[in-house]
Amino acid sequence: MKFKLISQAYEVLSDPKKRDIYDQGGEQAIKEGGTGSPSFSSPMDIFDMFFGGGGRMARERRGKNVVHQLSVTLEDLYNGVTKKLALEKNVICEKCEGVGGKKGSVEKCPVCKGRGMQIHIQQIGPGMVQQIQTVCIECKGQGERINPKDRCESCSGAKVIREKKSIEVHVEKGMKDGQKILFHGEGDQEPELEPGDVIIVLDQKDHSVFQRRGHDLIMKMKIQLSEALCGFKKMIKTLDDRVLIITSKSGEVVKHGDLKCVPNEGMPIYKAPLEKGTLIIQFLVTFPEKHWLSQDKLPQLEALLPPRQKVRITDDMDQVELKEFNPNEQNWRQHREAYEEDDDGPRAGVQCQTA
Ligand SMILES: [Zn+2]
Ligand SMILES: [Zn+2]
Repeated sequence: MKFKLISQAYEVLSDPKKRDIYDQGGEQAIKEGGTGSPSFSSPMDIFDMFFGGGGRMARERRGKNVVHQLSVTLEDLYNGVTKKLALEKNVICEKCEGVGGKKGSVEKCPVCKGRGMQIHIQQIGPGMVQQIQTVCIECKGQGERINPKDRCESCSGAKVIREKKSIEVHVEKGMKDGQKILFHGEGDQEPELEPGDVIIVLDQKDHSVFQRRGHDLIMKMKIQLSEALCGFKKMIKTLDDRVLIITSKSGEVVKHGDLKCVPNEGMPIYKAPLEKGTLIIQFLVTFPEKHWLSQDKLPQLEALLPPRQKVRITDDMDQVELKEFNPNEQNWRQHREAYEEDDDGPRAGVQCQTA
């Protein structure tokens, strides 16, 4: 492995053009013909170790990216919103212009002799040695240091200072949970490096009514038994504060768990917000409590409902007691899943037919 790296390093050294590419993008850049990613952490440290060049431990070309989470509501994602976010980031110290001290005060680290690394040789067996390299403690791998008395007062020799900055994040209609918004070059600054990016990651809070699934919105709606049998009108407040009225079709019976939908009332589609997904409604029928109707009125109700099934009992049948079933009781635990109501609502991919 090391030999291969060394031989490649020779090859690079002996070819000025390759050397140039190598300095700009590392080994990967050579393999890709000079178009490699600039963030590649090159094997230059090993190169430096043997040839005493450079100094920096890892030749990163860019400062660090700063990642922030931004909490948003489903309303924010539906309507779009602009949010101000206060950030802290490293900026190049203005006083010393990123030098860290007076001009000329930077000296080669005396501990690692500018390599940024310390090499320890350890005997691990007869005739076997192991080389261990660690980051230089004195210069923290920088290869250089500033004499304490010459250090910049503003940044204490750190070359950068923390600065508060507020950025405006434009959350566009239809964006989704986990989506990233990039602020190019707004990340940490470091001397001689291209600044990193600020990456905002959207984090959507749960909504009390709607669940989002792709472009669709899903909600549960409770209706009374009378509404399920005789029809209903219901209001739905949308995420942009409109009120929709839904009406069941005449003569229709809506069963517990039934799914209906309203086309074009789902989430706006990102980058095409005039188009929207589907609003899917799952109906939950609320049955009346026991003894809601006096015993003597039951025949009247029965006369209106579909006839019940008659059972002919013979002597060879056993009459047993019907008890309440509680799935939470431990004896029933294993059956629980089969009886428990599915809280996740309808599965994705529900067909929605336009009336
Ligand atoms: Zn050092
Ligand atoms: Zn400074």
